[in-house]
Amino acid sequence: MSQTQWTAVDRYFTETLVPSDAVLDAALQSNAEVGLPTIDVAPNQGKFLQLLVQLRGARRILEIGTLGGYSSIWMARALPADGRLTTLEFSPKHAEVARANIARAGLAKVVEIRVGPALETLAKMETEGTEPFDLIFMDADKPNNPNYLTWALKFSRPGTLLIGDNIVREGEIADASSTDENVQGQRRFLEMMAAEPRLSATALQTVGSKGYDGFAMALVLG
Ligand code: SAM
Repeated sequence: MSQTQWTAVDRYFTETLVPSDAVLDAALQSNAEVGLPTIDVAPNQGKFLQLLVQLRGARRILEIGTLGGYSSIWMARALPADGRLTTLEFSPKHAEVARANIARAGLAKVVEIRVGPALETLAKMETEGTEPFDLIFMDADKPNNPNYLTWALKFSRPGTLLIGDNIVREGEIADASSTDENVQGQRRFLEMMAAEPRLSATALQTVGSKGYDGFAMALVLG
């Protein structure tokens, strides 16, 4: 098995099941033109997130880590007419690109981009009395994922779906002695999920055009 094969299979899946979409293609093109890193979800992963939004019947989505808004567009498109997606981004440059991509997708009124360190924005949202979310996608700086999980629980209600991306770390996630702060952040994130009685959680490994990776998913119980 090799990256070449994973990419070829992902291409086949995408060509077969995820029709090419001018708006999403344009978003990736804009990201590339201004040199954003290509760390957005793959098209078939975007479609997977969209299906989760639909399965959950989500009306309110929180995303931590916007980049150019590619995953935001995938998810926001599945919201009902009165739905809302709030996405948090540290980098003003990334947020500016995302704002243009989201506007081109016709979602400017559905998606709110909040710029700044997510931990500060989340604290601000609490003081604003933000209502709970139906789905929370954590895809920003991985060392902070334990903190994001704490906030996600505050902004949840029974039935909220929590998703944490990029948990495999090239397999290093299984190494308790790793000195990589991303690995340690994700290990603590998974351990917190396991220890939280309000959560029923699992994690899956994936391979594809973005390499060897995986995600964790948890349902907030009653
Ligand atoms: N969800 C995006 C997608 O699939 O299209 C990809 C997000 S990318 C993996 C991570 C993003 O999180 C980057 O744009 C980065 O600037 C942002 N980020 C990193 N640290 C952050 C922080 N402390 N607060 C908010 N955003 C942060």
